[in-house]
Amino acid sequence: MSIEQAPSQLRRIALSGSDQQAQREKLLGNSAEQFLNNLGGATAIFLEGENTETTRVLCTLLHGNEPSGARAVYDYLHSGQRPCTNAVFILASVDAATTQPYFSNRMLSGKRDLNRCFKPPFEDEQGQLAKDILGLINELQPECVVDMHNTSGSGPAFGVAIKEDTLHIALTSLFTNDLIVTDLRLGALMELSEQDVPTVTIECGGPNDRSSEIIAQEGLQRLLSATSIFEDTGESYPVKIYHNPIRLETIGDAEVAYGKMTSGAVITLPEQAEKFNYGTLTQDECIGNLSASGFISLSAKDHNGKERLAEFFEERDGGLYPKHPLKVFMVTNNPFIARTDCLFYFIGE
Ligand SMILES: [Zn+2]
Repeated sequence: MSIEQAPSQLRRIALSGSDQQAQREKLLGNSAEQFLNNLGGATAIFLEGENTETTRVLCTLLHGNEPSGARAVYDYLHSGQRPCTNAVFILASVDAATTQPYFSNRMLSGKRDLNRCFKPPFEDEQGQLAKDILGLINELQPECVVDMHNTSGSGPAFGVAIKEDTLHIALTSLFTNDLIVTDLRLGALMELSEQDVPTVTIECGGPNDRSSEIIAQEGLQRLLSATSIFEDTGESYPVKIYHNPIRLETIGDAEVAYGKMTSGAVITLPEQAEKFNYGTLTQDECIGNLSASGFISLSAKDHNGKERLAEFFEERDGGLYPKHPLKVFMVTNNPFIARTDCLFYFIGE
């Protein structure tokens, strides 16, 4: 094990050779939590593969409350396997993830959402870390980058990419059969890393879903054991593609409640709002109860900035209903995320 203390927010650790077993075990400890504590901060772990000409990158923990990727990396390192190609694991918000209780902080208080920092200016600490991650990817020129996340509510896994070609579809198919292709630019890692290398974001499902852990673990296994990911370019992958989902937001970060109506909330969703992540939302399903000015406090702008709220939704008996069947993604049940980011993403079916 060699440690290089670069003048960077991202520490580098190289694990190679079979005689490193004891040091590897010491670094890993007895759990993913101990492993992250031992890392102490944002870290890139280098693992030598059978084929050292090619590198594959897995980035995870851009959000500290999304454990599936970090647990999969821990399990992979623990297994002592040698990947097919060189592998680099980037574990980003280790500080947020190890702040007690473990995996409960998306980012540390007062800091920006790291997955909105992959665009200039890179001035603050989070921006600098984002820049260091992009710098490492540029330096490595890997074959692919997978950025692994959990959705904030429970739900099925899906991929997100900004390009739709066989490379991105093949990469997604290692993890899931649903791919969202978006023209929306928010400052996420894939937006700039894509300039160097095919990148997909994989949302494994909710942080507490057992299925998310399996998707992360098995997908990582496939990613690192495939001799060639992009070999079968003529093959038709069973991946369903969804274009440009729209975000449902509240205007001016207006409040969102769950379960019980509160006085300040413009909309109150059911406690189990995550159930909307499964299947299709039909016209007779009430999404939430609106306050008197609730409907006009909502916004659903598409990637061109065009307001589409009244086209997809209507108010009926004080409730918000879809006008057409909708496929929704990333429904949160976290009032902070709903207010500051969005309630969910949707696509008209
Ligand atoms: Zn995330």
